[in-house]
Formats: sequence, structure tokens, C-alpha cells
Amino acid sequence: MHKILIIEDSRSTAKLIQHAITERLGIACDIAMNMTEAEGFIQPNPAAYDIVLCDLNLPDAPQGEAVDMVMRYRLPCVVVSASITEGTRRQMLHLPISDYVLKRGARDIQYLISVIERLLKNEQTKVLVVDDSNTYRKGLVDLLTRQRLQVLEAANGLEALEVLEKNPDIMLILSDFNMPHMDGFQLTEAVRTKYAHDRLAIIVTTGLEEDLAAQFLRFGANDFIPKAASFEELLCRINMNLTMLDLIKVNRDLSERDALTGLYNRRMLFKEGNGMLDRIKNGDRITAAMLDIDFFKKVNDTYGHAGGDQALKSMGKLIAQEFPLPCIAARYGGEEFCILFPETVPFETALQRLESFREQVAAMQVTSGGKEFGFTISIGVTNKATTSLDTLLNAADLFLYEAKKSGRNRVVAEVHQ
Ligand code: GH3
Ligand code: MG
Ligand code: MG
Repeated sequence: MHKILIIEDSRSTAKLIQHAITERLGIACDIAMNMTEAEGFIQPNPAAYDIVLCDLNLPDAPQGEAVDMVMRYRLPCVVVSASITEGTRRQMLHLPISDYVLKRGARDIQYLISVIERLLKNEQTKVLVVDDSNTYRKGLVDLLTRQRLQVLEAANGLEALEVLEKNPDIMLILSDFNMPHMDGFQLTEAVRTKYAHDRLAIIVTTGLEEDLAAQFLRFGANDFIPKAASFEELLCRINMNLTMLDLIKVNRDLSERDALTGLYNRRMLFKEGNGMLDRIKNGDRITAAMLDIDFFKKVNDTYGHAGGDQALKSMGKLIAQEFPLPCIAARYGGEEFCILFPETVPFETALQRLESFREQVAAMQVTSGGKEFGFTISIGVTNKATTSLDTLLNAADLFLYEAKKSGRNRVVAEVHQ
């Protein structure tokens, strides 16, 4: 459970911020009116707070002492101040805070919410810092860790590729240009052979004077920043790139995934499934399974549409868990799902996994409207030799029909050896 501490001596401002956070992010907040009260909240269990929002000017801490107190507990701190002069801005840039935000009106609160949202998302976001200078790298790692990001490090392009191989979920690479073994250009080129710029952002930094920006952007970097730029600018650009990737992902999910279960939709099943079929060599087979919930109409009739939806969601979650990549799992429509196993999964193994999945579903309980219920599924499986996904799915559907006809809650398969 996330929780935020607001240190603010104006009760009305604190309430306004608390209301916005609870309403927009659904996160609980505690309010402390001064530094002493704040430490009273933090001290017994600092880990209870994800982020502390701290006023610079408090009755018992007029010079930003509360920020130092929060820092002592190593908590991510966002300074919230009524006015930020050039002097205080410079002072804050030297503090290991996460960010600073003004609080003049509704638009500032909206910005504050976006800062908090970013910091919370960052916890799940992996960033790779590539630089041969230990000092510069440590500086960046420190900056990024304060943003609650998961930070990985590499001293050159070759090392970076190794780290990326082990962590394909890295979202952002922050790379130096001039490095031994493999420089920023070569690294950008190598990364782009596998990762598109709308899935993984690359920001290149350089201490060199030459104008390299255009070349890097053409090579596939998302952004380019001279090392002379402030860490503050770097941070803004990092946030901008991460936010952009998040927005792209939301849009991609809308077009590729089923909203209820989060699994691929039918369109993606055909796109990815045809890709899988195109890649296999002569003689190799992929296995297709069609899964259908038994007597689902009765689930809807007994537990309502919401109960049925809950059953579908639980089923989707279990499918995603049990059949991750390289399997392709999709909601085919209604209460029907499809799983494709690549040629690397032997037919017998696929069958065992499906049989065990059927048992897991039969043992699962779903809760909706205060009522608990279970359900079963029938599965049809085939590894028919064909280059057409339609043909493969139709064949699996025939065995699903057999499974229904012969009593449901079972797996029926035909092996085409
Ligand atoms: P069988 O064991 O033969 O598969 O019987 P069944 O009742 O499961 O099959 P049938 O195809 O007759 O009914 C499927 C039902 O699924 C009908 C439809 O209202 C319901 N359904 C389809 N999509 C959704 C959905 O998104 N949410 C809910 N709650 N119900 C859905
Ligand atoms: Mg059904
Ligand atoms: Mg059906």
C-alpha cells in the first residue's frame, strides 16, 4: 500500500493536496503541520512512506530544515513551496531531493500529481546508465535512484548490451558517447536492431564540443544532451521520455489487448500467431489450444454479469501467469481463449501444462458481490501440420467441441505425428 506524508503548515493547502492525491491517485496521505510532528510520523516506521512532500518554510523549520530531516531518513522528498526564487532553486539543486514543485494554484497541484505519479511508476522502471567515467556514472546513478528508478550500470557499450540481454525490460538507456570498446553510436545502432524507439528510449550525453545531436537522433537516439547541461534539465528530459513511452504503451495496449483480461485481443493473436507460423522451419509444428469456460451462461445467470466478468479476469490472470512468452495467449472472444505454443515446446509438454492449468482453474475460487464460486473449462488441442492459423484454430475448435460433448472439464487432443 502506498502512502504519502504531507508536511505543510497551512491546513487548507494540505487538505487541498491531500484531496487531489486521494482523488486522482487513490493513495492515503498523512498531514504534519510542522517538522516535529512530521518526525513523529516518520520515526516509528520510515518505510511506511513512499514519498514525503515537504514545505520549505515551517514554524519550527524556517530554513528548509525539514528537508534535511526527511533526507536523514533517506525518504524520497519533493519540496513544495509557495515561491521558489533563483537562490532557493540553486540551494535545492544541491540537495538530494527528488524534485521541487510550486504551490500557487490548481495547475501546480496538477503538476505535483504528475510528479508523484512518475515517482511511483519509476519503482517498476529499469534504467541503464552507460559511462566509462566512474564519477559521472555515480552522479547519474545517484540522481536516478532519488527518482526511485531501478538503476543498472555499465562502463561501455559492450557491457551495456550484456546487461540489456539479461534485462530486456529496460525502458531507458542513458549513454555516454565517447567510451572504450563500443561507443554511444555503436551501442545505439546495436540496440536498435532489437528494440524500437517507442519501446526503449536512448538518451545520449557527451562532453565533446562537436555538434553530434543530429547524427545521434538519426541513428535512433530519442534525445541528446551535452554533459554541460544541468542535472535538472537531464531529469526533465528523462521524465519526458519515460512519460512518452508510458503514453505509447497505453495506446498500444488499447489496440492490442483485451480491456477486461489484459491478454492479447483477436487481432494480435492473428498477427503474432501468423508471425510464429512464418518463422517455423519445414517439419516443425506449433501447438494450438482453444479454451472455453463451461456453462458460462449459468455463471452470468447466477452471479450476475459482474460475477462473469470477475471469472474472466481471474482466468486471464492465470493464463498470463502460466503461459508467458514465448507462448501467445489471447482472449479469442466471449469466454473463449486461445494459447499457441511455439515449435520449441514438445506437444506432450504443452498437453501436460494445459492439463495442469485445467486442474488449477477447477480448484480456483472467484469472489464477486460477496459470493464465492468456482467454474471449469474445456480445452481442445492440436498440432496439425499447416501454414494457416485459421486451419489450426478450426482444428483445435473441433477438439474443444469433443471435450464439451464428452462431459466438459477436460482436455481433448489429437496428435498429428
Ligand atoms: P458451454 O459449456 O457449452 O460453453 O456453455 P456456455 O454457457 O459457457 O456457452 P455459451 O456460448 O452458450 O454462453 C457464453 C456466454 O458468455 C454468453 C454471453 O452472455 C457470455 N459472455 C460473453 N462475453 C462476456 C463478457 O465479457 N462478460 C460476461 N459476464 N459474459 C460474457
Ligand atoms: Mg462456454
Ligand atoms: Mg463459448
